[in-house]
Amino acid sequence: AMAILTFIKEFLYHFAALAKMEQTFIMIKPDGVQRNLVGEIIGRFEKKGFTLKGLKLITVDSDFAERHYADLSAKPFFNGLVEYIVSGPVVAMVWEGKNVVATGRKIIGATNPAESAPGTIRGDYAVDIGRNVIHGSDAVESARKEIALWFPEGIAEWRSSAHHWIYE
Ligand code: ADP
Repeated sequence: AMAILTFIKEFLYHFAALAKMEQTFIMIKPDGVQRNLVGEIIGRFEKKGFTLKGLKLITVDSDFAERHYADLSAKPFFNGLVEYIVSGPVVAMVWEGKNVVATGRKIIGATNPAESAPGTIRGDYAVDIGRNVIHGSDAVESARKEIALWFPEGIAEWRSSAHHWIYE
């Protein structure tokens, strides 16, 4: 009976862990690419234990950048933001893991690098809010929309063999 209870408990824990599996859209902005931060940034997500599910270097046009940032279209910095995003290639990525949306935002740091903690990507590598190196989805629902926008071709289907070394 003990063994059955243990099995049920393990099963429920496993199920709860799976339920928290998320995907997030992460983009290294043109300044991050120009400043040779691509390897450093990918390394941080990789070493944390998250799984890379999509990756491409892509230059987008204003139409596309405006769609990505549609929610900010009324902001005074919107035109400058769009110009910034189209100014060179960006690295578009999908990362998967438990709570990856919120944890990804923590790894990235506060929007304004003046307020991002040291140890975060923006805290370590950025100075101005309009050159803050990286984007990360702010919620599971926006991640879903952003992944659909940036990866209409779909993403990789694979499971890391390190999975059981990262999740209990
Ligand atoms: P985040 O990227 O942290 O989710 P927002 O969604 O509020 O932040 O803004 C999107 C991006 O717009 C920011 O990452 C930054 O590049 C730019 N931005 C935000 N606020 C300003 C501002 N006051 N001036 C210039 N650019 C800004």
